[in-house]
Amino acid sequence: MNDCLFCKIIAGEIPSTKVYEDEKILAFKDINPQAPVHILIIPKEHYESVDALDEASAPVVGDIMLVAKRLAAEFHLESGYRLITNIGENGCQSVKHLHFHLIGGTKLAERMC
Ligand code: AMP
Ligand code: ZN
Repeated sequence: MNDCLFCKIIAGEIPSTKVYEDEKILAFKDINPQAPVHILIIPKEHYESVDALDEASAPVVGDIMLVAKRLAAEFHLESGYRLITNIGENGCQSVKHLHFHLIGGTKLAERMC
């Protein structure tokens, strides 16, 4: 996916503020944070969204959850946080590379939409 923004970030062609990286996962700060902590956690493999996952690829979501937990501790989100993945047009997904938003550092809105 050479026109994918997040694939370009993974390739180092577009700069990002990385906060975690391993062989499968990258996490970096959202360029337009909606809370004091707003991190994007993405698989290095390109999948458009949750809708593109199958039985073979779905375990990467578990890997992402463990990275989220680790980052939540690192960024002192002991009081709680939110993990969000937007899917498709009605989900307001703007970047078509699977990603989870890790959001916290303040009391979040009770309503989610
Ligand atoms: P979504 O709307 O769920 O697809 O989320 C895409 C997110 O990517 C938004 O929160 C954007 O602020 C964020 N974003 C877009 N471009 C960049 C970038 N170059 N570096 C970091 N985050 C970005
Ligand atoms: Zn991509």
